[in-house]
Amino acid sequence: MECDKCGREAVMHAAYSGMHMCETHFRESVDTRVRKRIREDSMLAPDTRPDNPETWLIGLSGGKDSVVLTQILHETFADDPRIELVALTIHEGIEGYRDASLDACIELTDDLDIEHEVVSYADEYGIEMDDVAADDPLNMAPCAYCGVFRRDALAGYAQEYDADKLLTGHNLDDEAQTAMMNLLSGDIKQVAKHFDASLGDFEEREVGDAPFVPRAKPLRDIPEKEVALYAHLRDLPTHMAECPHASEAYRGELRDHLHELEENHPGTRHSIMSGYEELARLAAEAYRNGDGARGECERCGAPTKNDVCRKCDLLDAVGGTPAESVE
Ligand code: SF4
Ligand code: ZN
Repeated sequence: MECDKCGREAVMHAAYSGMHMCETHFRESVDTRVRKRIREDSMLAPDTRPDNPETWLIGLSGGKDSVVLTQILHETFADDPRIELVALTIHEGIEGYRDASLDACIELTDDLDIEHEVVSYADEYGIEMDDVAADDPLNMAPCAYCGVFRRDALAGYAQEYDADKLLTGHNLDDEAQTAMMNLLSGDIKQVAKHFDASLGDFEEREVGDAPFVPRAKPLRDIPEKEVALYAHLRDLPTHMAECPHASEAYRGELRDHLHELEENHPGTRHSIMSGYEELARLAAEAYRNGDGARGECERCGAPTKNDVCRKCDLLDAVGGTPAESVE
């Protein structure tokens, strides 16, 4: 097959757009879509000045998504004095797995000369995921604990660091799977949170709307396969192994269904997300006008609608302690 733009040999075919692309045009198209997303979500406040730059904290795991995100952000903003990029890796305490991916993070941030920080569950909460997975006091999948701790660690660090945005490498497939999981569980409050916690439209937010660092997902238009191909073509340092505690069986089932749907009906993931984002916006508005008031966790101060936040509940169960009280 030939590239639709230049006639050279194509390295990929995107059924949802009908395009065949050569390596050069494929790479260009990924860069363009990410930059367009950054612009359309108004991630950079228009009045940002070089003497008062924004700090963007990138959640860097060493997997292909966050590595590609870091590379593209670096190439887009390295010479822009209005933005400072800092990479943050969370170390969950998973022997073998996270140490190897940390090496990929260090190689990349050294190459790009980006500041790199590491936060561990051991330092923050006095726990390691290997122990949590072995004990499993609440009889849940390990990822159910780990996801809550990771979100809290990222958000807490972003706040401590006084970051303006927290950026993560979620791709189109991740987002479509999460959307379907939330819709199928019937939990519309969770749908509303998608707008509150992760969508762009930063300009639309009122000041004081969200007592946390706004999140952004610049890769959310790029299918997983394309992120993997991009990382491969550019020979970026990535860590591919799967976590030994990976346990989201339901997500895996949805991934398979979505692959099949996408194959039979190209464009399904894009249309799920455009509908979902609109629904999330409407739901967030409705809850904000209703009883959506949020308070602070009485133990750690994180935003929550209950007396104690989910992370503190889970730390209780696994015998951990929030950072302040770790000796
Ligand atoms: Fe944590 Fe699950 Fe990811 Fe492993 S797969 S790092 S347990 S969320
Ligand atoms: Zn081409």
